[in-house]
Amino acid sequence: MEFLRWPQWLKEHYKNKKGDPFNVSHLIKLEELHTVCQEAHCPNIRECFGSGKATFLIMGNTCTRNCRFCNIDSGIPGPLDFTELDHLIETIKIMKLRYIVVTSVTRDDIEDGGASFFSRLAFKIKQEFDNVNVEFLIPDFQGKEKAMEILADAPFEILNHNIETVPRLYADVRPQADFERSLKVLRFFGKKNFITKSGVMVGLGEMENEIKKTFEKLRDTGTEILTIGQYLQPSLRHYSVKKYYTLKEFDKLRDIALELGFKEVFSGPFVRSSYMAETTNLANNRSSL
Ligand code: SF4
Repeated sequence: MEFLRWPQWLKEHYKNKKGDPFNVSHLIKLEELHTVCQEAHCPNIRECFGSGKATFLIMGNTCTRNCRFCNIDSGIPGPLDFTELDHLIETIKIMKLRYIVVTSVTRDDIEDGGASFFSRLAFKIKQEFDNVNVEFLIPDFQGKEKAMEILADAPFEILNHNIETVPRLYADVRPQADFERSLKVLRFFGKKNFITKSGVMVGLGEMENEIKKTFEKLRDTGTEILTIGQYLQPSLRHYSVKKYYTLKEFDKLRDIALELGFKEVFSGPFVRSSYMAETTNLANNRSSL
């Protein structure tokens, strides 16, 4: 089993993340919800929970896929629980959120991949609140146009779909996904006038020219916001880290992405696709709030 140890500077960086996650963890437990923050062991959890933010994971916490970088359990998920929607509404109220990020496990067992569930949630949020921006971080719905059409009719602001890595590494890292299919998802929602956003992890063995090509392909779909973060190996059974990028290298990747025309780029070792999502100027400026 391979495990590339964190460099000392990265450990110091992590220790500087302050915050008390207790209240948010307690509320999530009470409301019987799941968060990707907890399931994926996100390194920002103290900071985000400590400042009253979280990314909610809907449709259960068991995924039908088995990506080698991801810490979420894979298996056969249970049936959809529609009370989850009410619990989320209640949680938005209690946390006084004005920007919510919701993601889901991949539900290849459902005909529309869960698109209708996302859609119901969007309508419910907009019915209950007139001042909440919604970002959906979605799976690829197996590229099914019908599922994407269902979601495109729902009221939300940002469509996020992570490309995760360069095409060459898909077979090893996310064998049930497809690079071109993910581009298609982003292009589809961009054409429907949603703000589109995607994320890339680095440190999986990609080359700089491959990253640049991947950024170019993302830009070609019209994707406007990009997150770039360091892959961290959740356990020994997961895909091993091939390299830790330095802060300088993250700055360089951000500059490359900005030069290619992305409007907003978040780049850094602990950047995750929902990290500081509420600070996205595009959503705040373009929303009707
Ligand atoms: S970066 Fe995103 S996933 Fe990580 S703790 Fe913050 S909100 Fe959760």
